[in-house]
Amino acid sequence: MSHPHPELQQPPQLAERGLRIVGLGGLGEIGRNMTVFEHEGSLLVVDCGVLFPEEHQPGVDVILPDFSWIRDRLDRITALVLTHGHEDHIGGVPYLLKERPDIPVVGSRLTLALVKAKLQEHRIRPNLVEVSEGDRSAFGPFDCEFLAVNHSIPDGLAIAIRTGAGMVLHTGDFKMDQFPLDRRITDLRGFARLADEGVDLLLIDSTNAEVPGFTTSERDLAPAIETVFRTAPRRIIVSSFASHVHRIQQVLDIAHAHGRKVSFVGRSMVRNMGVAGDLGYLRVPEGLIVPLEQLEKLPAHKATLICTGSQGEPMAALSRMANRDHKIRVGEGDTILMASSVIPGNENAIYRVINGLARWGANVVHKGNAKVHVSGHASAGELVYCYNLIRPANVMPVHGEWRHLHANAQLAISTGIDPDHVVIAEDGVVVDLIDNRAQITGKVPAGNVYVDAQVVGGVTEAALKDRRTLAEEGFVTVVAIVDADTGKLADPPDFLVRGFTHQSSDFEAAIPIIEKTLARAAAEGIGDAHQLEQMLSRDIGRWAQKTFRRRPLIIPIVIDA
Ligand SMILES: [Zn+2]
Repeated sequence: MSHPHPELQQPPQLAERGLRIVGLGGLGEIGRNMTVFEHEGSLLVVDCGVLFPEEHQPGVDVILPDFSWIRDRLDRITALVLTHGHEDHIGGVPYLLKERPDIPVVGSRLTLALVKAKLQEHRIRPNLVEVSEGDRSAFGPFDCEFLAVNHSIPDGLAIAIRTGAGMVLHTGDFKMDQFPLDRRITDLRGFARLADEGVDLLLIDSTNAEVPGFTTSERDLAPAIETVFRTAPRRIIVSSFASHVHRIQQVLDIAHAHGRKVSFVGRSMVRNMGVAGDLGYLRVPEGLIVPLEQLEKLPAHKATLICTGSQGEPMAALSRMANRDHKIRVGEGDTILMASSVIPGNENAIYRVINGLARWGANVVHKGNAKVHVSGHASAGELVYCYNLIRPANVMPVHGEWRHLHANAQLAISTGIDPDHVVIAEDGVVVDLIDNRAQITGKVPAGNVYVDAQVVGGVTEAALKDRRTLAEEGFVTVVAIVDADTGKLADPPDFLVRGFTHQSSDFEAAIPIIEKTLARAAAEGIGDAHQLEQMLSRDIGRWAQKTFRRRPLIIPIVIDA
């Protein structure tokens, strides 16, 4: 299989009639999925998601794909096609539409409804184009056909893109549950029909490529959820993704059967379930849902809450309940049902929430101690099945960290696909499909774009490094008054220490270092305060590391006397 070379350069001009594919997100990471297709001077974008930050990215709200490769060609985008309504596929849409509001946004009914609700909050009125499985529509030179796929949100679509360079099948996120609640199964007949026509390149979900066998059915969770409702003595608080309509459907049905009432808690949960209910994707038994104030007046054994925060997100309802920072006070006898996955990177945050809830006396049921979650993604068995069915000429695993992409590539090869036709690309790697052959031809910028307090790109990698240093090492401010004529210290410098192991007095031993740095600067004719500060920061930092074996953030302030 071919891997991206570490020193890939800007790609050559795309060959005439060639198709260029660039993942700006979702390759080498789980999240912010975005794939750009380029053909005959036009662009087609599939998905535009966000990535949620990890602990080493403090203060970041979400991470966007880097749009810089397409920023000066936004007018060439013929459509933004959305495979389904998950945040890691649609969360970045408002940010792309802020740059060009009239891009046609194409997707299924539920996906578009979720996008529309999100865009309303950003005050954007999108140009929506609704499609459903079986539809075929052309966007510039991209002739798109939509196929049903089953996933952990209803109304998911795979896209077959026919171009002058061949046909690409992009699965989006999918699995092959044969008994989904809505009976809408992944369209394997459609996949087979495309295979007969010839799939030149298959972009295929890698999330569960390391998991052997087949993903079990959503319906298999019913017994464990049923047990919770049969045995819980008091309130039941369920956390789930705010988009997992079928999971929540199962909870609603079982709650109803046990004579409980239900309230939704959390902005995205209330919003999404409202949308799903209005459109008929969620069937709510009459009188089951009540406002929270009404639920609180019921006996505890009649109450069920469904809330957000299944991934330990600090601002979501469940984390705040665990921290006693929410009006819902979790206590003895309450049962918490975390009917959700553990996304890689969120483990610590999730277990912190579980421990917090257990500390207040709650019984926490989660995927570690009961069968209350099945994945939304195809496992290795299903992927192999697809390779054998589709027989693609070229394969490019998508949606996954490196280990997932690699495992998926191995599966493709195990079914007899030529390893030279299996391409592993990371974000920004350029893959060209020319004469039936997909090959890596270069790399374009695809770094992390951080959103913090609504500001896009305000926080840089350097700023994040400073935040981590502040968190782990603390900081030291050095105020040095320098005589402009001699370049020497006019007074002994002041040291201000915060969050650091040693006292400010311990820094007095650094005065000779500061004097030496100033002398060197004077000898070199450097008098500019900013330059002096940089030199001092470096030299005092080195001294601190040698003296204390620590690297606090050093902030020198040079004042001319
Ligand atoms: Zn998804």
